[in-house]
Amino acid sequence: MHLPGSDAAPSAHAVQGRVARLGSAIHVEGLNHWYRSGRASVQALHRISLDVPAGGYVALTGPSGAGKSTLLSLIGGLERPQQGGLRVGEHNLTGLRGDALAAYRRGTVGFVFQHFGLLDLLSARENIELAAALASPAPDHRRLALSLLNEVGLSARAEHRPGELSGGERQRVAIGRALVNDPSLILADEPTGNLDSESAMRVLDLLERIHSERGCTLVVVTHNEAVAERAERRHRLDDGRLLS
Ligand code: ADP
Repeated sequence: MHLPGSDAAPSAHAVQGRVARLGSAIHVEGLNHWYRSGRASVQALHRISLDVPAGGYVALTGPSGAGKSTLLSLIGGLERPQQGGLRVGEHNLTGLRGDALAAYRRGTVGFVFQHFGLLDLLSARENIELAAALASPAPDHRRLALSLLNEVGLSARAEHRPGELSGGERQRVAIGRALVNDPSLILADEPTGNLDSESAMRVLDLLERIHSERGCTLVVVTHNEAVAERAERRHRLDDGRLLS
């Protein structure tokens, strides 16, 4: 089977990643998390403990409302842990807030979301270039964007806008964008949720190739068992609790 992007030469980042480092290990211990809505409080996570080894590939599964996205946002530093322990690589997220949490996200994490989050008026290249400019003041955002489009097998679509791309191609642009900061951790929240089954498998092929070439840790949130089965390990959540 032809893998998307498999004709593309590995980028300098990929080669460097293979040689230079292994992804970030994740250590979660007794994590509780609540959301307040009006006067009520919803406990989204109950004493979650799990470990993901450096360079591991895990799936978080479970029904809607189980707490998967909450756990992913905490690991990604999008929200602050309220109670319990959470470490990613050398970062103790329990103690981070504000700018320090933002610096952790910028330096460590690449996010991929179900709805791609691309800007309609920008081309594939410009979408990645903009993210590169926001991530780092270093020049040559254009070259980085072109190299990442090559890595995700979309060089030929660089000047196309999202509206001119298929769902699978849009997700591949979004994956290229997630790599602008050369992350050691990729967090993908239902990355195939908007795709037909063939495009879904191709997007997973791509995430897995990036995971192995760059050596980064990969966490995929999904309610789709066929997607979850491809991970090295599955953690199932229900009603905010880990069932293992
Ligand atoms: P999943 O990703 O498994 O669908 P979530 O992590 O999104 O689950 O949600 C877990 C629980 O937390 C649900 O009961 C949900 O309604 C609640 N929740 C999530 N985000 C918020 C929020 N911002 N405000 C209030 N409740 C929330």
